[in-house]
Amino acid sequence: MIIFKNVTKIYFPDTLALDNISFEIKGGEFVVIIGRSGAGKTTILKILRREEDPTKGLIYYKNRNLLEIPRKRLAEIRRKIAIVYQDFKLLDKKTVFENIALPLEILGRNLSEIKEEIFKVAEKLKIKKKLDQLAGTLSGGEKQKVCLARSLVNKPEVLLADEPTGNLDPIASFEIIEILKNLNRNEGITVILATHNREIVESLKTRVLVLNSGRLIRDENPGTYALL
Ligand code: ADP
Repeated sequence: MIIFKNVTKIYFPDTLALDNISFEIKGGEFVVIIGRSGAGKTTILKILRREEDPTKGLIYYKNRNLLEIPRKRLAEIRRKIAIVYQDFKLLDKKTVFENIALPLEILGRNLSEIKEEIFKVAEKLKIKKKLDQLAGTLSGGEKQKVCLARSLVNKPEVLLADEPTGNLDPIASFEIIEILKNLNRNEGITVILATHNREIVESLKTRVLVLNSGRLIRDENPGTYALL
């Protein structure tokens, strides 16, 4: 589903963020990317959503050359390859409902369609009672669930999670990881999780890609938390 072929990324003027990286991810996989801060994890995720272009190399998404997709079709790709972040990026002064509704409004859905979709996803993520609450007043774990809900209304094929538990306590963290596991297992969503949380990596017992200074030094399935 996703192929990185000899991908190098140099940020101007001379930061080598990814150094000749190749890997393939099949549809339905749950893959963890680990590595120290600055190892290149976020850069991989950004390249996948075409928020950054590689300096060299090829990327395929479902047999299409991702780098040849015209700019005007990138929004579509970004709906299919959704992302959630460590710092949530919610509109704090809007309600949970309004936050989740945004991507659907952009697509021109009418209010009854929007409500139906939001109730469905809120039920799944157990945030139905929070729909009228301002996003800024939620706990970290609740905020991350809202972010997941906001991604899910676009029916993504791939979900990228960039340190999604970085701001959460251990209990909320494991709840978010459980949700990611269920989305992967029950809905077939391909999940790529960047993290440096050892407990989470060890508990997942899934494929692990290890980055070290921009190089892919290990690719094991199941992998363990070993940075060197
Ligand atoms: P990680 O997610 O593993 O912490 P990143 O992919 O964010 O790593 O960063 C990899 C390297 O690229 C780091 O050295 C970082 O400082 C650098 N980098 C990331 N984004 C930029 C940018 N926009 N401009 C210049 N350097 C960047």
